[in-house]
Order: sequence, then C-alpha cells, then structure tokens
Amino acid sequence: MPNDFSGGCACGAIRYQCTAEPVYMGNCHCRDCQRATGSAYFPAVVVSVDEFTLLQGEPTWYESKADRGHTMARAFCNKCGSPVLLNNGANDTVTVLYAESLDDPSWYKPKRDIYTSSAQPWDLMHPDTQKCQAMP
Ligand SMILES: [Zn+2]
Ligand SMILES: [Zn+2]
Repeated sequence: MPNDFSGGCACGAIRYQCTAEPVYMGNCHCRDCQRATGSAYFPAVVVSVDEFTLLQGEPTWYESKADRGHTMARAFCNKCGSPVLLNNGANDTVTVLYAESLDDPSWYKPKRDIYTSSAQPWDLMHPDTQKCQAMP
C-alpha cells in the first residue's frame, strides 16, 4: 500500500494527491453507491483530510441523505462525469476516494463488503472480505 499516491478523473481536469496510506478500504453495495458508480459497488479508499490535497479542478457536488440522516456529498467531474470522491457528513476527518480514480488502482485491497443486503445477484464478492448486511 503506497503512502504517496495520486489520482483524478478521466479527462484530467480534476487531480488529487495523498501523502499517507489510506486509513481504510472497503466495498459499499448500497443502492446510492451503485447509482453513483454505475456499477455493482463503490470501492472506497478512505484517507485522512489532513493528507489529501485537491491539486486542480472544480468538482460538481451531489448531496443525498444517508440512511442515518447525515449528508453524503459526492464529487464528480462535470466534463467527463467520473466520480472522484465522497465526503461523509458523519465524519469530517476523512475523505473517501473512488478506487477507480486512482492512477494505479491495482493496490486497492478491500477489507469489508458493506450493505450486502442490497448487493446485486450478479455481484460476486471476494470470499476473504468481512461481510456486513448494513453499516458495521
Ligand atoms: Zn474529468
Ligand atoms: Zn454506499
């Protein structure tokens, strides 16, 4: 797991850098994350806000309410549509990156699968991850 890594959107308008290794990595299978990614789940890379820098670009934000009532703000590029990051209103000490936005997504290693109760039947999960029906 690298302690200095970068990423951004597909067109390159948005670029970010992190200067510490992630504090957590895991897949979220809730319906909001399925819609936001256009895929089976959100591969979430959680990093400390103190170690995260948005180098360039102006993301567009979409806000929705989590099932516990706090705001989930998702940032995406308004030129290419790529999801880039999410800020969880319940924890402002971290920001959550979409693993696909990393320049090298190959080191992503999820620890858990959460909201498996809304996972799709065609979504095959890794047998080694911890499974949680909702938020653990
Ligand atoms: Zn873009
Ligand atoms: Zn989710």
